[in-house]
Amino acid sequence: VNAAVTALSVRPFGEAGDLEIDFNSDDRPTLATQVLSRCVVASESFWWAQTLGRRISALLRLVVVTNSRATLDLSARCTQPGCENSFEFELPIDRLAPGLADDVVDIPLGDDRRVRLRLPTGADLRDWRARIDPARLDAQQTMLDSLRMEGEIRVADVAAIDECLGKLDPLVDFSIQGPCPACRADMEMPIDLEQLALSSLRVSQRRLLREVHELASRYGWTEAETLAIPQHRRAAYRELIEDSQ
Ligand SMILES: [Zn+2]
Repeated sequence: VNAAVTALSVRPFGEAGDLEIDFNSDDRPTLATQVLSRCVVASESFWWAQTLGRRISALLRLVVVTNSRATLDLSARCTQPGCENSFEFELPIDRLAPGLADDVVDIPLGDDRRVRLRLPTGADLRDWRARIDPARLDAQQTMLDSLRMEGEIRVADVAAIDECLGKLDPLVDFSIQGPCPACRADMEMPIDLEQLALSSLRVSQRRLLREVHELASRYGWTEAETLAIPQHRRAAYRELIEDSQ
């Protein structure tokens, strides 16, 4: 299934219909599914059924294609007392290891116990969002129980299972390690890759709106007329506007 997902064709974010997407929505599972089904050719139900790792991997591929760049610029701040240096770095998004090929994992729990789980999908996130209050103490266990295929999950197992899932599907629970450029102290920086990808696409959407604004206010075209012009020609018109100013 993983190979099938990476073979799907991706088009850059930035067609007229992409302006419909509301990046202010707080329903991230739905937002990510809408973006994916628009730009990575497959239906919404296909994307709901994909594991979180595969959804994130596809979103990152979409960002690379949209920006024509394989890296994203990030900034971080050192947490070492007395240093607190802030610095910028590049994240090579095309070189991140993809998630696990299997959808089902066996996790050993000690005492010869083990549990078999499905990896969570977009549909699981949607389901949890609808029926599990994240503030409840047993929220984590209820979520894991809904993924359980064999074995038993005790309260004491929850943290170990969570850590194990994080290692098996690294894009979901992503962090990078490295020394602070100022004090050389080792840092671990958690990075929410899904959020990062969606933020980058939100910037692309703003850029598209600005383009429409410039061209429509100059030439009197409608939004639809402006967006019907291929991107390279819109860029040429904007250069002409700039030259004439
Ligand atoms: Zn530092």
